[in-house]
Amino acid sequence: MTISINAAFDGGNIRVVAIDGDRIDLEIARDHLSDFFQWFSFRVAAAAGRTLTFRIVNAGQSAYPFGWPGYKVRASTDRVAWRMTETRYLDGVLEWNWTADTQLAWFAYFAPYTMEMHDALVTRTAAQPGVTHRELGVSLDGQAIDAFTIGTGVKQVWLYGRQHPGESMTEWWMEGALERLTDATDPITAALLDKATFHVVPNMNPDGTRRGHLRTNAAGVNLNREWHAPSAERSPEVLCVRNAMDATGVHVAMDIHGDEAIPANFIAGYEGIPSWTEDHGAKFYEFGRRLAAHTPDFQTEKGYEKSSAGNANLSMSTNQVAERFGALSMTLEMPFKDHDPNPDPEFGWSPERSKQLAHAMLETLADMIDRV
Ligand SMILES: [Zn+2]
Repeated sequence: MTISINAAFDGGNIRVVAIDGDRIDLEIARDHLSDFFQWFSFRVAAAAGRTLTFRIVNAGQSAYPFGWPGYKVRASTDRVAWRMTETRYLDGVLEWNWTADTQLAWFAYFAPYTMEMHDALVTRTAAQPGVTHRELGVSLDGQAIDAFTIGTGVKQVWLYGRQHPGESMTEWWMEGALERLTDATDPITAALLDKATFHVVPNMNPDGTRRGHLRTNAAGVNLNREWHAPSAERSPEVLCVRNAMDATGVHVAMDIHGDEAIPANFIAGYEGIPSWTEDHGAKFYEFGRRLAAHTPDFQTEKGYEKSSAGNANLSMSTNQVAERFGALSMTLEMPFKDHDPNPDPEFGWSPERSKQLAHAMLETLADMIDRV
């Protein structure tokens, strides 16, 4: 039988360049109307009994080539467990071997979270008591922007993620957050929902998710550069969420992302916004310190450079929300590699750990909710 490669499914992305015996040369497709690419997700069929070498030959031209050294491809034979597989990056080519003992195998940049999985998450969450589901708007492709309201407290907490659709760990985090916020037996949840009202947007970029994009929507627009001036033509996904935030106000905002290069979890804040004060920033730093003390899966040493005074980019949601509402606002970045301070040699950073980190962040918020 001839080996076949296929990515024509929800969230798939790969192109075959050549199949030469057991060597399979591939390339990642660019986001539509954009130059960004790095996300891949595909399956191989009819490989059983063979040892194949996969080579992504355009890895060196991807959006973040410095993310490949130290990275390991995720592989699955059941679409449930996604284990790291030994991976090399040499001369701009990402390469790995696969000895197939199953007829089908699946490979991806990170454990996928497809639109089918999103629809299942939304449906089972909406069925929980105390949860209000709303469609805030629709994407350029006409998909719903789903949001949940949970809780009765005066503090308005917004959790939103997956502006960058290739960062699939973000929706695993959202699944963890929604499971915790709908756990009627949990005393921390009960205390939080008494003091806060949560607004949760688990996927801000359904079009990019379904299309297998790394970073943009159906028009090739990076949604996390639209928050100063979102428009119905370019970024209706941001426009509808920002309008809903304007209606509620925001005390706390968490924008959930993944980072290609840094092998650790970290948060980025809003230094450099026009209304920055030490008091405003102190809440952000306190959250990071408390979270690092609470879980070995968080740290505060590695992270992004801070913006200098007055130089924050207000097109990015964390800065815009901190400036617009005076909120405790943060960007969480989770790794595609592993959280090196607490590594897992089999799975690396994983869906389960992304969900657990959401729990830890809600527990930390519960400790601070009276002061935000
Ligand atoms: Zn991102």
